[in-house]
Amino acid sequence: MERELVQQGRPVDEVIADLAAKRVNDVRWEDGRAFGMVYDGGPGVHEVAEKAAAMYLHENALNTKAFPSLGQIQSEVVSWTAGLLNGPDTTSGFLTSGGTESILCAVKAARERGKAERGITEPEMIVAESAHAAFHKGAHLFGLKVHKTPVLDDWTADVDAMAALVNDNTVLMVGSAPQYPQGVIDPIPEIAAIAADIGASCHVDACMGGFVLPFVERLGHDVAPWDFRVEGVTTISADIHKLGYAPKGVSVILHRTKDLRRYQTFVFDDWLGGFYASPNLQGTRSGLPMAAAWAVMQHLGVEGYERLTTQTLANADQMRSGIATVDGIRVLGDSRFHLIAIASDPDSSDPIDVFALADALERRGWFHDRQTPPDSLHSTVSNSNTGVIDDYLAALHEAAAEVRGDRAQDRSTNYATLE
Ligand SMILES: *Cc1c(COP(=O)(O)O)cnc(C)c1O
Repeated sequence: MERELVQQGRPVDEVIADLAAKRVNDVRWEDGRAFGMVYDGGPGVHEVAEKAAAMYLHENALNTKAFPSLGQIQSEVVSWTAGLLNGPDTTSGFLTSGGTESILCAVKAARERGKAERGITEPEMIVAESAHAAFHKGAHLFGLKVHKTPVLDDWTADVDAMAALVNDNTVLMVGSAPQYPQGVIDPIPEIAAIAADIGASCHVDACMGGFVLPFVERLGHDVAPWDFRVEGVTTISADIHKLGYAPKGVSVILHRTKDLRRYQTFVFDDWLGGFYASPNLQGTRSGLPMAAAWAVMQHLGVEGYERLTTQTLANADQMRSGIATVDGIRVLGDSRFHLIAIASDPDSSDPIDVFALADALERRGWFHDRQTPPDSLHSTVSNSNTGVIDDYLAALHEAAAEVRGDRAQDRSTNYATLE
């Protein structure tokens, strides 16, 4: 690797052409062939996001006295999200850089609350094994002990196993709506009730579902209770940069009351640089994702999200029915929304190795994340995949025929990488 930065700066066109050339091997999300990572709300959403992003490319939300528009943008987006998630009038929150940061803030707030209200100095949290890795990152960063419980046969959290681990140091119980790996909703009322009983916090991870489930419900489908209508839920994370269709770098963390939100924030007034108040984990904070999220939400409105959700559910339903016609694979759990995990079918006389299947699909330009256990291919279906499901299912049949009887050498999974 070249260690020296170019001595002499290069012309804009040349630099941009080089960047464009670097992208040749990147996932082709624009043609809808990726099931995750990029969520495409369509041309109008691109246009409004790009215009807002260009306006706020340089702005800094570190200090909203300097940029009051960013303070307003944050309050408005938080407040609309609280409305969608049926928060009481007291609900308050902040924008963060993404789901991980929202979850870290919730873990930190639960720890502080446990210390302030119950004198807990050795905090513990209880999560199902399906809960996102970010909870373990939070425990690692903020010094909490994690109890991890198994999931039931339907992939939802085992509430009895969680209850059995509650003790005087429990500050946080977690449920997901839906959980990422198989896309099912945990029994949130039961988890929240256990937390409320002992004065602990209950976080609902709706990073994936926060901008889907409210619209699924409005469209008349059954959705198990998961939002602030469930008593005992104290915090919820919802990612606008997933199926909220905003560009990357924006999520919402909500607390049931402003008093609870105090446990998240950090204030320091003993520095030569002046008074320092910080809502989340960042210092300097780009205005770009915040403004782009504001613009996308205004452009779509509830009707726009209902339209994209209708399309997403149609895409996912078509995928699930198509997968059911391929012998040797099956969908895990009662997946009803936008997340689908494809695994080998043990009941088939000819089960397919799904990692070999993923290799064959990648050769055809289709990209799934791989996860384990059990070995499975993860899909986050969205409006991005509109119009390509027929092609995908044709590729799936071809790929299945090609790899029947094969086993992939490479068993690695790859949700997130280092370098
Ligand atoms: C994506 C996701 C997260 C983490 O969010 P990032 O924005 O990737 O940091 C957490 N929980 C669930 C359920 C998710 O789908």
